Amino acid sequence: MFIFKTVKDITAHLEAQRAQGRLIAFVPTMGALHKGHLSLLQAAQQLPALTVCSIFVNPTQFNNATDLEKYPRTTEQDIALLTGAGCDVLFLPTEQEVYPDGKAVKEPYDLGYLETVLEGAYRPGHFQGVAQVVERLLQIVKPHKLYLGQKDFQQVAVLRRMIDTRQLAVQLESVPTTREPDGLAMSSRNRRLTESQRSVAGLIYQCLVSIQSKKGMQPFAVIQKECRELLIHKGFRPDYIELAVADTLELLPDYDPSRKMVALIAAYIGEIRLIDNLVL
Ligand code: AMP
Repeated sequence: MFIFKTVKDITAHLEAQRAQGRLIAFVPTMGALHKGHLSLLQAAQQLPALTVCSIFVNPTQFNNATDLEKYPRTTEQDIALLTGAGCDVLFLPTEQEVYPDGKAVKEPYDLGYLETVLEGAYRPGHFQGVAQVVERLLQIVKPHKLYLGQKDFQQVAVLRRMIDTRQLAVQLESVPTTREPDGLAMSSRNRRLTESQRSVAGLIYQCLVSIQSKKGMQPFAVIQKECRELLIHKGFRPDYIELAVADTLELLPDYDPSRKMVALIAAYIGEIRLIDNLVL
């Protein structure tokens, strides 16, 4: 695996590959890699393409300074994992490489309604930072395909919108969520859970499954209240437990069988905020 730390070096390498007609498949990450990240790489490897992963803990998408400071960084292990998984190129830039003219968003992205609900409402500025870093990485890597995880359901919608409005020539693929045996969605932040927090963390997924399985049997408000009470009882602080139209994330007060729906939960356990979702 080639490892590049500067825009200049990765650009030269990728230009040479592109000149030989190679397709480029890109998986952006913030590192502390787990099997969920590797499933994105595996999806990319289905193509006859050069696979490029990036690891960059993007400061502009953190709306909480402690979360940024405590975000796990395991670069040596990540390199070993990516090498073992057959990744072709790793981009490991510094902040200076990604933000040579500073981190301020010069012109805010018009993310519309998506920025006002769910993660948008609870993490002000988060999606501006996500759109900003992914646009910069796309301009550097210039991939044909971009692989994103459904684990971050709203992020996929935001980036689809950013790609459309900027008219970027990249095709987006979203990959199903990889879970632990108890259903907990794999996440870099899971490393920070204590043993007792970890022992209850699967409850978020159980709540999503119960929202899915009780569709058409009970009003959503009843199940939402049960889930909220159960999570609080086990020590969580839920930000939201919502049902939405999968394509638009329009919030739904109740099940609507005529539309494809998604249930989404965000909850703190201790100081760690976990998110998950399930398409119904
Ligand atoms: P992150 O490093 O958390 O920014 O995630 C990098 C990419 O991996 C994003 O597109 C995430 O949605 C995706 N991802 C994170 N966790 C999972 C998971 N458990 N299953 C599938 N994809 C994931």
